[in-house]
Amino acid sequence: MDGQAHAARALWNCLHDWWSMLPKEKRCLAAADAAIRQARKEIDWLGMLPAQAAQAVLKTYFQAWRNCWDGRVGAPTFKVRNRTVMSVDIPQGRDLNITRVHRRWGMVNIPKVGRVRFRWTKELPVGKRARGDDRITGARLVKDALGWHISFRVQILEAGPEPHTGPDVGIDAGVNLPLALSDGNHQDHGRPPRLADGTADQGKWLNPPEKAKLLGLERRAARRKQHRGRGEKTSRRLQHTYDQIKQLRAKATRRAVDWQHKTTTYIAERYSIVVVEQLHIKSMVKSARGTIEEPGHNVVQKSGLNRSISQEAWGRTVTMLAYKTARQGGALHKVPAPGTSLRCSACGSTTPGSRKDQATFVCKNPDCGWSGNADWNAARNILHLYRRGHALVPAAGRAVVRRPRGVKPATAR
Ligand SMILES: [Zn+2]
Repeated sequence: MDGQAHAARALWNCLHDWWSMLPKEKRCLAAADAAIRQARKEIDWLGMLPAQAAQAVLKTYFQAWRNCWDGRVGAPTFKVRNRTVMSVDIPQGRDLNITRVHRRWGMVNIPKVGRVRFRWTKELPVGKRARGDDRITGARLVKDALGWHISFRVQILEAGPEPHTGPDVGIDAGVNLPLALSDGNHQDHGRPPRLADGTADQGKWLNPPEKAKLLGLERRAARRKQHRGRGEKTSRRLQHTYDQIKQLRAKATRRAVDWQHKTTTYIAERYSIVVVEQLHIKSMVKSARGTIEEPGHNVVQKSGLNRSISQEAWGRTVTMLAYKTARQGGALHKVPAPGTSLRCSACGSTTPGSRKDQATFVCKNPDCGWSGNADWNAARNILHLYRRGHALVPAAGRAVVRRPRGVKPATAR
């Protein structure tokens, strides 16, 4: 699988190089397709990648340009070896031949690899479970520090949702509460317990022994790095320590995503209208070097990386809420962010010095004097803004500018 993923990445880079060199009038899908066919014939190791997966790379590459032209992201770039998420696409579902062998396990055919066992985590329209035109239309293999994962693309016919009759709610990504809801139904992380000082964001998702292990590994990595001379290669031991750190972080990420999925499903089922703040795009782009799975080696562990993770997590929560509310017949609305945490939700005034500290909000308006949880206050303000008709209408195609990490804004050349 690793070989296939590297071939896919190399193919992307070749394609990008070829595309950038070609005069504008010669750039077309057919020419790119012919170039890929020729490259696969001439370069042995590119042949390692199944032909369909190579086609999928081409398709993704064109989609990347379309996203760029629509203004959603910057121009595609080369994929760097150790910063790229390894993935291989299987664009067609007919040869997968999925069977369930056990309550927890299934088997699937992976092109050029063979029959592989996978963990069965969700109902799939296979065999007796498939109704009517329900079917699997493809799959995608993605690698993180803990191993390879397969996700299936599924086509299922569903009746459109009835209009949701639940109440509306404002949500704030809190400092003290992960998700503060305007009706006080706050959603906190369950197990494992949070750190007392509320700092290390990633630590929230690891239990005390795991946290101690992570700290020890980080110290060991720092020590080993000290002994590395200038320009010297990373030693196998240091690399091993880095891998162990990545694995623990991948574990934390998985737990975070799991919690997000469960919480957003709960919110979408319960509430009809969900109101959130418009994302702070600039601070999201300015993330720590590297990604969560592949952290940059010189990043200060406590500050930049963790901040970026919490912001990314919020972005992911919003994305999940958007499609989950739509599926339940509800809707997600965004309101402008400035001032929501400084205004009093009881009297509506913004008085200087109102926010006492991170946790409690105390209104300094002499006629009001309301005090309460600061995150809850912000969530109520967000809902008020929506009810007064301040919801932002996303412009087509330019709604949320979210660049993939590592991609710089396109500049004029
Ligand atoms: Zn007040």
